[in-house]
Amino acid sequence: MEFLRPATWDEALAAKAEYPTALPISGGTDVMVEMNFDVHRPSAILDLNRITELSEWQIADDVVQLGASVPYTRIINELSGPLPGLALAAHTVGSPQIRNRGGVGGNLGGASPAGDAHPALLAAGRDVFVEVASQARGTRLIAIDDFYVGVKRNSMEKDELIRRVHIPVADGPQQFSKIGTRNAMVIAVCAFGFALHPKNGTVGTGIGSAAPTPRRAVEAEEYLAGVLAERGLWQSGDLLGTEVIQRFGELVKAAASPIDDVRGTAEYRRHSLAVMARRTLTWTWNDYSKQIRSAA
Ligand SMILES: Cc1cc2nc3c(=O)[nH]c(=O)nc-3n(C[C@H](O)[C@H](O)[C@H](O)COP(=O)(O)OP(=O)(O)OC[C@H]3O[C@@H](n4cnc5c(N)ncnc54)[C@H](O)[C@@H]3O)c2cc1C
Repeated sequence: MEFLRPATWDEALAAKAEYPTALPISGGTDVMVEMNFDVHRPSAILDLNRITELSEWQIADDVVQLGASVPYTRIINELSGPLPGLALAAHTVGSPQIRNRGGVGGNLGGASPAGDAHPALLAAGRDVFVEVASQARGTRLIAIDDFYVGVKRNSMEKDELIRRVHIPVADGPQQFSKIGTRNAMVIAVCAFGFALHPKNGTVGTGIGSAAPTPRRAVEAEEYLAGVLAERGLWQSGDLLGTEVIQRFGELVKAAASPIDDVRGTAEYRRHSLAVMARRTLTWTWNDYSKQIRSAA
C-alpha cells in the first residue's frame, strides 16, 4: 500500500490526481475503523495531516472558513460564539479522544446520514458551502443542500478533496439535539439542528439519521418563517404559542423518512424528531426573546 504524505495543498491535489483511488485520511476516526474491519483495502492512503491550512480557521465578511481538519475539540473551544449550532453538535461526537482527532471534513467525506455535523450545517442556512478542489478542474463551492446525494454518498468527484467549509457567522440563537442510547460514544438514533436567522427572516433546520441523507425540513422552515413575519414576532419577540410550536414539530416529523434498524424504529425516530423540533424551537425562541427585550 502506498502511503502519500503531501506537505502542501497543491501537493495533495497533485497526489490525488496521480492516484485517484487514494483514500484521504484526516483524523482517521472513520478510516482506521473501516480498515480494521476490512471495509476498505485502498491501494494508497493520502495523509492530509501535514497540511497546516486544513487545521486552521478564519472569519472574513461574517463567514467562518473552517479548515476541513479542524478537530471538534477546537470547534467547541474556539468557535462556539460564531458557530453555536455546530459547536453543540461537536460536543455530542464520540469521546474526547475522537473529538481531538475527528473533524467536519471527515464527517462530510463519509457523508453518513448519522453524522452529527450535517444537521448543524444544514440549519446554519443555505449559504453554507463546501469548498472542494482537484488539480484538473480547480476549486468549486458546493452548496450544502447539493452536497448529500445518497446513503454515505456526496457530490464530490473522485479526484476532489475538501479544503474547507464556509459557514455564515450565527446572527441568532442555534440549537442541536441528539437522541442516543446514552450520552456519549453513540451514533445518533436521530438528531435535529435548528437556527434562527433574524437578519434575513428565515429559520434553518437539519434532520440527521432519519432519511437516506441528512436533509432539511423545508415545509417546517417555510411555515415558521411565515408565522414569524406575519405576526411581527421577529420585532416583538412575543410568545410563539403552543399551536405554532406543535405545528412546527409535526412538519419536521413529516419531513423525515426513517427506517427501522438496530438503533430504533422509524416510528420512534419520527416521534423523537417532533419532540426535538419543539424543544429546540422553544429554547432558541426564549433566547431570542431575551435578546429583543434586553435590547429594548
Ligand atoms: C468511537 C467512535 C465514536 C464516534 N462517534 C461519532 C459521533 O458521535 N458522531 C459522528 O458524527 N461521528 C462519530 N464518529 C465518526 C467520526 O469520528 C466522524 O465521522 C469524524 O467527523 C470523522 O473525521 P476524521 O477527520 O476522523 O475523518 P477520517 O476518518 O480521516 O475520514 C473520514 C472520511 O472522509 C474522507 N476525508 C477526510 N478528509 C477529507 C478531505 N479533506 N477531503 C476529502 N475527503 C476526506 C476520508 O477519505 C473518509 O472517507 C465516531 C467514530 C468513532 C471511532
